[in-house]
Amino acid sequence: MSAAYRHIKLPAVGEKAVIRNGKLHVPDQAIIGFVEGDGIGPDITKACLRVWDAAVAKAYAGRRKIHWCETFLGEKAAGLYDGNYCPDETLRALRELVISIKGPLTTPVGGGFRSLNVALRQELDLYACVRPVRHYAGVPSPLKQPGKVDVVIFRENTEDVYAGIEYKAGTPENARVTKFLREEMKAKFFDGSGIGIKPISAFGTKRLVRKAIQYAIDHGRESVTLVHKGNIMKFTEGAFRNWGYELAREEFGSVTITEEQLYAEYKGKQPEGKIVIKDRIADIMFQMMLLRPEEFDVLATPNLNGDYLSDAVAAEVGGMGIAPGANISDNIAVFEATHGTAPKYANQNKVNPGSLLFSGVMMLEYMGWKEAADLISLVYPEVVSDGIVTYDFARQIEGAKEVGTSQFADALIERIQGGIDLEAKRKAQQEQLIKERKQREIRRLLQPMEEMVSTGRAPQTVGELMTRALITVGDGETIESTMHTMHQNNVSCVVVEPNAQGEWGIVTRRDIVTKIVYANRSTATTKVKDIASRPLFSVPVETSLREASRLLADRNFSRLAIAQGDKIIGIVTETDVFNAVERFGWVE
Ligand code: NAP
Repeated sequence: MSAAYRHIKLPAVGEKAVIRNGKLHVPDQAIIGFVEGDGIGPDITKACLRVWDAAVAKAYAGRRKIHWCETFLGEKAAGLYDGNYCPDETLRALRELVISIKGPLTTPVGGGFRSLNVALRQELDLYACVRPVRHYAGVPSPLKQPGKVDVVIFRENTEDVYAGIEYKAGTPENARVTKFLREEMKAKFFDGSGIGIKPISAFGTKRLVRKAIQYAIDHGRESVTLVHKGNIMKFTEGAFRNWGYELAREEFGSVTITEEQLYAEYKGKQPEGKIVIKDRIADIMFQMMLLRPEEFDVLATPNLNGDYLSDAVAAEVGGMGIAPGANISDNIAVFEATHGTAPKYANQNKVNPGSLLFSGVMMLEYMGWKEAADLISLVYPEVVSDGIVTYDFARQIEGAKEVGTSQFADALIERIQGGIDLEAKRKAQQEQLIKERKQREIRRLLQPMEEMVSTGRAPQTVGELMTRALITVGDGETIESTMHTMHQNNVSCVVVEPNAQGEWGIVTRRDIVTKIVYANRSTATTKVKDIASRPLFSVPVETSLREASRLLADRNFSRLAIAQGDKIIGIVTETDVFNAVERFGWVE
């Protein structure tokens, strides 16, 4: 039994959640921690506690209940603990309670912290920042179809340029690092540079990706995307990608396939019970979240990418003010509002409780209390669609009725208590999800190459890059008519059907220059068989782009025929390789 607390009072009833053998166990009478937070924190916390309690009461009719245990951080803590904003006993309580939720905190100026939140993450080693982003009907959004966004972002929280290893220009430390980098590592950079270090480890990457994949499994998600900038930062971001795939293979081999396998082995049809592991370059990911958000599900990112991406995606669904979040380690989860303390609105019963509210929804899901979580997610859009909203939405929705924080909570509670057919709504959602997945699958089956390109997949093999619409001609065809065929189809070569020996051939535009014009032969009388190159050199469809490029270079070819078994099924040209690398970059 742990030592008594000074100011924290454990509820007389209820038990703490525990982690046993890596598994979370939440008792039905659960003690859960909360931190009220500063500024608008008390307003939103009071409102949310009422909504969460109402949802739990409705969903379980008294069988389950949360017994709240208040813990202290920020200004309230400073008042109780002699000016200490981050007391040790709160850290101990957050560890012992396993699950907690917190409002926003003021960072004390000159308090020796970069930020209280950063301090908390470091002290408790909360290495995964989890941000679900989805749209709720009625919430104003800049997108035409915001409902297509439904992702959960797992951002690594401890490494990368956020590790705090920085050397200010002009300091002796900077001078030492500069000297080492220039003299020993032969690095070149401008004088007077500030220097920051970007550590990304296999350990840090794998524990994050493990959490992301486990989440995808637990929540029936379709895919996990590793988001990285590995084409430029090969040994940090590129390594993140490689370690992510490695982890998926080593620890989740039986339940995951790569996107490459999805296309090559399964022809685009996602096998039952398997999650697809894919990767995207960060800048393409930002585009994709605007153009094809429905293709993405769970995202795993290094620290900096995740910071940018989570805010950008939240803004797409109008959710900057209502985006929820959590910081999680193997043993502790702290759910939190993602906005700040908005001090100008403190104690005015004015602001939107959405961010904290949905952090609580995440928390209920994490606890396995899905029915209570679903109740809130389902009534929220109904209330907002009725135009009952706080000031921030009211200024964006014409004709809306502006209410205060607590009145908004009242409206939610009224709906929750009013009875809602949870099962029917859930069934409708599930059916919609299955329908959308089927549509994506059909697109992958029918036009794999187009799907790869339009969903931002960097091609890895010639099979993913080739032109499939092959134009073939027979040996007996004249060059004149073959040239017409090439012109009409706007192709630079035609494949020649196999001869008696079963050898395929090819005629290219270059052949017309060298073997017809330069050789001074007639296009009308010369036949394809007279100038075709045979046998046609071909490579298997799964040949890597690097290997294909080696062949193009070594043999001085400008195109390769792509074979499946003894059939020629496509052509890859230098231009195809060029276009792919221009678009996606080149990742080692
Ligand atoms: P902020 O508190 O997030 O407020 C910026 C603006 O966002 C507000 O003025 C308001 O916009 C809007 N806003 C924030 N929360 C809202 C809510 N619940 N409902 C409706 N609108 C909301 O950011 P800040 O002013 O930069 O930071 C203030 C303090 O918060 C600082 O001490 C900072 O360190 C701290 N902070 C804490 C956390 C955290 O604890 N997680 C995070 C960020 C910042 P309008 O003015 O347009 O109405």
